[in-house]
Amino acid sequence: MITIDGSEGEGGGQVLRYSAALSLMTGEPFTITNIRGGREKPGLMRQHLTSLEAACSIGNAEASGLAVGSSEVTFRPGSVTPGEYHFAVGTAGATGLVLQTILVPLMLADGPSRVVIEGGTHAIAAPPFEFLAHTLLPVIDKMGPRISAKLDRHGFFPRGGGRIVVDFEPAPLRAVELTERGEYVSGGAEAIIAGIPFEVAERELSAMRKVLADWPKEAFTSRQLSADEGPGNALIATARFEHVTEVMSGFGKLGLPAEKIGKTTAARMKGYLVSGAFAGPYLQDQLLLPLALARGGAFTTVKLSQHTRTAMGLIESFTGTRFRTGEREDKKLLVEIER
Ligand code: AMP
Repeated sequence: MITIDGSEGEGGGQVLRYSAALSLMTGEPFTITNIRGGREKPGLMRQHLTSLEAACSIGNAEASGLAVGSSEVTFRPGSVTPGEYHFAVGTAGATGLVLQTILVPLMLADGPSRVVIEGGTHAIAAPPFEFLAHTLLPVIDKMGPRISAKLDRHGFFPRGGGRIVVDFEPAPLRAVELTERGEYVSGGAEAIIAGIPFEVAERELSAMRKVLADWPKEAFTSRQLSADEGPGNALIATARFEHVTEVMSGFGKLGLPAEKIGKTTAARMKGYLVSGAFAGPYLQDQLLLPLALARGGAFTTVKLSQHTRTAMGLIESFTGTRFRTGEREDKKLLVEIER
């Protein structure tokens, strides 16, 4: 039984999600105390509960302490069973984060699965659908398992109501070297608007253009969804390279000026473009678990995030796998999995 203090390191929901995934992969039970102790409103929220319930369903696990507001959970894993699953967060809590919990166990299960997840698809502090579909899943594809994701309906904060469908074709994980992004192919940004004034999209894109001045005018587009998918707004910037596609995102929020969303999202993309690294700040922590289970591989990345450091610690506690980090001659940060 591993005991984790949920307030340490990043101190958020990621500790729970990665612990559940690691527990299912290793058969090691865990207790987590001080859940989300690093957050303003600590304890389990609806979306974390759905993630843990999803882990229990796919992994025939037993858990105690599963209630909104709970600060301690004990999780005893069973065996992972592939199949058809449906999970609904019930709020705008992120579908991408529920997926994060069950992704690795189902990609290594002994048969295919189809998972429908309902909740937010474009919510702050979580991977939006485009990041899953264009950044994360294609990298997993290089490692062996085939996972495809389809967006049926957008879900924005606070209403939610989005829906994604994810198909898994498992395969053993191959260790891969994700060190070079390859030639630049294209870059573009899309402002998605649902049930709010269209000029918000124009203001976001015009702020973005000032930062990403090398991208042609036609690379900045907008899309209006039907009002009943909103209200909501997401800004998705995508840079395609030969070996990787990075997605940076921004989300509309009451009181947050459109110009600020545009500028911040563009600055994040610019930071990634000049870094020359393979993995941006969010792909980083999401690559660690598959690579650790592949028992090898490496990636270049930007400055390590607190999420990444926390995930490294958890992976080491459950599997004994260690990570080596260091600067290469070309100044890019290299993360290697110690065999
Ligand atoms: P937590 O803050 O503990 O709930 O964890 C958030 C998770 O979502 C981490 O795995 C982050 O890498 C990921 N994440 C947060 N924001 C984004 C984003 N804009 N794009 C992709 N992934 C994200």
